[in-house]
Amino acid sequence: MKRSIVIAGNWKMHKTNSEAQQLANQIRMKTIDITKTRMIICPPFTALAPVYDIIKDSAIHLGAQNMFWEKEGAFTGEISAGMLKSTGADYVIIGHSERRQYFGETEETVNKKIKTALENGLKPIVCVGETLEQREENITLKVIGKQIRGAFDGLTPEDLQNVIVAYEPVWAIGTGKTATPEQAQEVHFEIRKLIAELLGRETAEATVIQYGGSVKPGNAESLLSQADIDGALVGGACLKADSFAEIIHIAEKLKK
Ligand code: PEP
Repeated sequence: MKRSIVIAGNWKMHKTNSEAQQLANQIRMKTIDITKTRMIICPPFTALAPVYDIIKDSAIHLGAQNMFWEKEGAFTGEISAGMLKSTGADYVIIGHSERRQYFGETEETVNKKIKTALENGLKPIVCVGETLEQREENITLKVIGKQIRGAFDGLTPEDLQNVIVAYEPVWAIGTGKTATPEQAQEVHFEIRKLIAELLGRETAEATVIQYGGSVKPGNAESLLSQADIDGALVGGACLKADSFAEIIHIAEKLKK
C-alpha cells in the first residue's frame, strides 16, 4: 500500500503576523520544486488567514493547532471548526501532548474534537505519545493503545481516510532527544496493528502515521526510512525555513 509522506510544521505559540507571513513565504520559495510530499504548516490562530494569503497558490496546506467542538456560543477564547475552515485551513492538530499536559485535554475531548473536525471537512492530525515515566515503566504500548482507542471511538473506516496519526513520545518533544528509528518503528507498527484490529487491515494500511519529537534534518532520513513512518510532525525545526525545507526535501527523496 502506497501512503503519502506528510511533513507538518507545528509553529506552536510563535510568530506575529508579519513574522508568520515572512516564514511562510520563505518556506514556499524553498519548496517550490516539491511534488510528492504533502506539506502542512500550522501557525497560531491569529496568523492562519494571513499565512493562507501567502500559500494559497502553492502546494502547502494550512493547519491549526487546536479547536473546540461546539459550533458557536458563549465559549470565550475558543475557536470552532467552521471558523478554522473560513481561514483556509484544512488540517487541525488534535490532542497534542502540550494540550493534554497544560490544558486538560482528555481522551474524551480529543474524540469530540476529532468528530467535529471531520464533520466540518477538517482533517485531524491526532497526537499520541507516552511520557518518560510511562516508557520506563514499560507501559508505552498500553498508554498508546488507550489513547488510540479513546480517540477513534465511534469512527468509521471512511472517517480514517481523513485522519493522520502522529506518534510523539512526550520525552522527545522539544528536548533534543529523539526516539531511535527502531523505537519509533516499533510503536508505529503497533499503532497500525491496533488500527487494523479496530477498523480493518485496509484502513490501517492506508493510514498515515507521522513521527514527532525533535525531528531535524540530521535525523529525518533514518526515521522516515522506517517501514511504518509516513512523515513527521516537526516543532522546533519548522521555525526556520531552511531546516523545515531540508526535512521536506529528504522526505521527497525517500518517497516510498
Ligand atoms: C511537536 O511539538 O509536535 C514537536 C514534535 O516538537 P519538536 O520537534 O520541537 O520536538
